[in-house]
Amino acid sequence: MEATVVKHTGSHYLLSALPRWDLFPAVLRGKIRLKGSGATNPVAVGDRVRYDFSPQPERNDPETGALSAGESVPTERNPAVITEILPRRNYVIRRSTNLSRQSHIIAANVDRAFIVVTIDFPEVKLPFLDRLLVTCEVYNVPVTIVLNKCDLYGEEHKERMDAFHFIYEGAGYPVMEVSAATGAGVDALRECCKDSVSLFSGVSGVGKSSLIKALDPSLDPRVGEISDAHLQGRHTTTFYEMYRLASGGFIIDTPGIRGFGLVDLRREEIAAYFPEMLRASENCRFTPCTHTHEPGCAVKAAVEEGTISYERYSSYLGMLEDETKYR
Ligand code: GDP
Ligand code: ZN
Repeated sequence: MEATVVKHTGSHYLLSALPRWDLFPAVLRGKIRLKGSGATNPVAVGDRVRYDFSPQPERNDPETGALSAGESVPTERNPAVITEILPRRNYVIRRSTNLSRQSHIIAANVDRAFIVVTIDFPEVKLPFLDRLLVTCEVYNVPVTIVLNKCDLYGEEHKERMDAFHFIYEGAGYPVMEVSAATGAGVDALRECCKDSVSLFSGVSGVGKSSLIKALDPSLDPRVGEISDAHLQGRHTTTFYEMYRLASGGFIIDTPGIRGFGLVDLRREEIAAYFPEMLRASENCRFTPCTHTHEPGCAVKAAVEEGTISYERYSSYLGMLEDETKYR
């Protein structure tokens, strides 16, 4: 039998045979280890697993003789047993700390990541956003950028809004304008979440919790956040959780995550995760080309022509510099 992991509580997992939402407890058979993964959690939310379950017939307690009810579905007393983790289509990890080699898998088999940003209040930091986008490219997770708080932007923000659309749609990322406050654009976002598993990410203050609540008023991500903070005092891991949207689809919130752990990239690999640079680089005279000093570089030419945005290119240069510095 197969199901998807929707929550990890520390002592057990909750599974559901998606798209059905019918949670039941399961434990991990001790032997399962993911080969070669340095992750602190062998099983993550979103993992597809195989499991065994032996129903318990009703029986008399050998001591008291009392008749106990049989269990035909998994319960905490008689949980399902996860026997195998099916191959992942993709996954997103977080480094425990920058220096640590240990990583924590936030979610597996994600159909799309929605990165929530704001043009202002707070102002989005493009190099940070670009790093997040590179990470998603590395993990093979398609991204939609969600521009929240659009109710707050007037004439004075128009130029920045237009520039933002130009930069990111030019790079190939869909940009949706929404307002959790007024509900503008929320129907369209809800529609995008149907029939799939979506990851929601964004720095604190952009309105990610408000947006999740606007998508489905029965969800309140802040409640989970409080208990997670409480748990974090005692354990070092955060438990992520999948929620079902009443309108269809499943979301995984990533509370308290500033960014996903950036995978180790070699300098010459970075540009391949800027999709617009990857496309242009086919016409570079040299391979590999770092798109910095080489003659006949098609990426630099595209930046000069304005078909690749200067902002994205300078994020790229910043990442290149960091890789050089820390190596
Ligand atoms: P989170 O930290 O990303 O989860 O952000 P919250 O959902 O807690 O929102 C941060 C602040 O922004 C709160 O004061 C919200 O009321 C406010 N906020 C969230 N979404 C919107 C929006 O669409 N428009 C406006 N004007 N304020 C918003
Ligand atoms: Zn080049």
